[in-house]
Amino acid sequence: MIEGLFKENLKNFKPYTVPKLDYEIKLDANESFLKLSPYIMEKILDKINKVEFNRYPDPAAEKVCALYSKYIGINKKNIMAGNGSDELIQIITGALLDKNEKIMTLSPDFSMYKNYAETAGGKAITFQLDDNFNLDVDKLIDKINGEKIKILFISNPNNPTGNVLKRESIFKILNNCSCAVVMDEAYMEFYGESIVDSIYEYENLIVLRTCSKAMASAAIRLGFLITNSFMINEIKKAKPPFNVNSVTQALGEVLLSEVDYIKSSVEKIKREREFLVNELNGIDKIKPYPTYANFVLVGFEDADFVYKKLLGNKIVVRNYSDNRLKNFLRITVGSREENKIFIKTLRSILK
Ligand SMILES: *Cc1c(COP(=O)(O)O)cnc(C)c1O
Repeated sequence: MIEGLFKENLKNFKPYTVPKLDYEIKLDANESFLKLSPYIMEKILDKINKVEFNRYPDPAAEKVCALYSKYIGINKKNIMAGNGSDELIQIITGALLDKNEKIMTLSPDFSMYKNYAETAGGKAITFQLDDNFNLDVDKLIDKINGEKIKILFISNPNNPTGNVLKRESIFKILNNCSCAVVMDEAYMEFYGESIVDSIYEYENLIVLRTCSKAMASAAIRLGFLITNSFMINEIKKAKPPFNVNSVTQALGEVLLSEVDYIKSSVEKIKREREFLVNELNGIDKIKPYPTYANFVLVGFEDADFVYKKLLGNKIVVRNYSDNRLKNFLRITVGSREENKIFIKTLRSILK
């Protein structure tokens, strides 16, 4: 029987699917509401014209890594590119986890850490954030050491809570745990206090970044892993040789040579975030949580009801099926127009 060919724990998995919904306003996936400018698009098309489609891509994605190195101020030999940071999470678990070895993940946090750890044959231990989605760092450290954790994954800012872990707390974890500490900074541009400059100092620190969120380029699948040279050389052994395709590399090169453009896009998104948060704070009977990312987590009396009503008005937000987030919705910051329609619709639903 072919069922027997698959890993035991894969039986409990569900393939990642995106429901086909009928919507006009998409606020569910933390994408940028900005489209790449016509000027950038023209440069991209020009660049794609020069791609040698008969050749394999540069396996080290050297040019993009060099540009990213300038963008974050880290030596380019400490940077590795991936097919989105998602692939880098998979590569890390593939390189570090032997069968039944454990990762630690927070709840709530990005669900892919657990997913990739388990497909790699490992186990995921979950540590609960408190009611305000803050982390008890001392307890976490005890648990990590007690459980002999191999990798700790944390998204900072946290997806879906929008909350952040201060640098002092991260240092405390790094100083007291010998596991690999992966700080996933997918939303760092919207916050600002990155830990990435500490990769030379802490031998167990790995930082992940992506072009999917602040750079309005989720479609191209480009992410970066940043760590010390020893780690990077080991992790490279688990990387598919030509993982980042030539079109993505070409696009990435254009994008990353337009740092001013990226920065001004981030400022626009932050202004819209402020607008959205202010509006949400003015609505009774809901609880928006403070956010440092491009989305807001909001507590409702009946999130399913609100979700369905929003969808009825062609607005899609992120709804959760797990218990802890049962009455929460995550709203991605949209354009001013989208945010206004969203707020108006929400007010009328709650009336
Ligand atoms: C969106 C997201 C990612 C995925 O980024 P890709 O580079 O598009 O794969 C990674 N981590 C977190 C926390 C995210 O929210």
